[in-house]
Amino acid sequence: MCSDIMGNDYQRETLTEGSYFLYNVFCDMTGCIELIEIDVSRLKNNSGEIKKLNIAVDMPPVLSEVEKIEFDGPVKLDLVLTNVNNTIVVEGDISAKLRLACGNCLDSFTFPVQAEFSETYYNEGREGIEPGEFYTPYNGDKLDLTPEVIKSIFVALPMRVVCRQDCKGLCPTCGRNRNRENCDCAPETIDPRLEMLKKLLPKD
Ligand SMILES: [Zn+2]
Ligand SMILES: [Zn+2]
Repeated sequence: MCSDIMGNDYQRETLTEGSYFLYNVFCDMTGCIELIEIDVSRLKNNSGEIKKLNIAVDMPPVLSEVEKIEFDGPVKLDLVLTNVNNTIVVEGDISAKLRLACGNCLDSFTFPVQAEFSETYYNEGREGIEPGEFYTPYNGDKLDLTPEVIKSIFVALPMRVVCRQDCKGLCPTCGRNRNRENCDCAPETIDPRLEMLKKLLPKD
């Protein structure tokens, strides 16, 4: 982990598989982030070559459509990079912990997520490769996996998460968090079947 927070950029080579892979560490006033950027100068030219990437990366918060999602601890990547006919196929598993808001009580909690990664990259400057619909372009000798890693994690997230199975949620009347305190509001006396129907109707 980088300790320099005063705006110095530098590169660090990882110890994975020799001096083959690297990722950049950028630091600014808000802290340090690591991009999952891999040197593929050799891999991209050797059809059939395989390299393994097993790293833990500190990733910056991600802005989704509705909220800023922070990672709780490093994102672990267990990936295999294969040169298949001079495209680079990257496959494997990602595990991360995210700070998410409970869909019931809105409290922030840590949600572990396992994601599959599968992406095919082609070098834009290379002749003889037909860019396929599912190919992701890259330039030069560096492959930046960061956007697709983030995408894979988001795809693996359920639509709605709850902090725990028996989360009691917020009181619909006074808004208190019923996991933490009780209130004197009268319980809702709605037939559960009507409640189901209510959920299906558009909210006004
Ligand atoms: Zn909850
Ligand atoms: Zn209440």
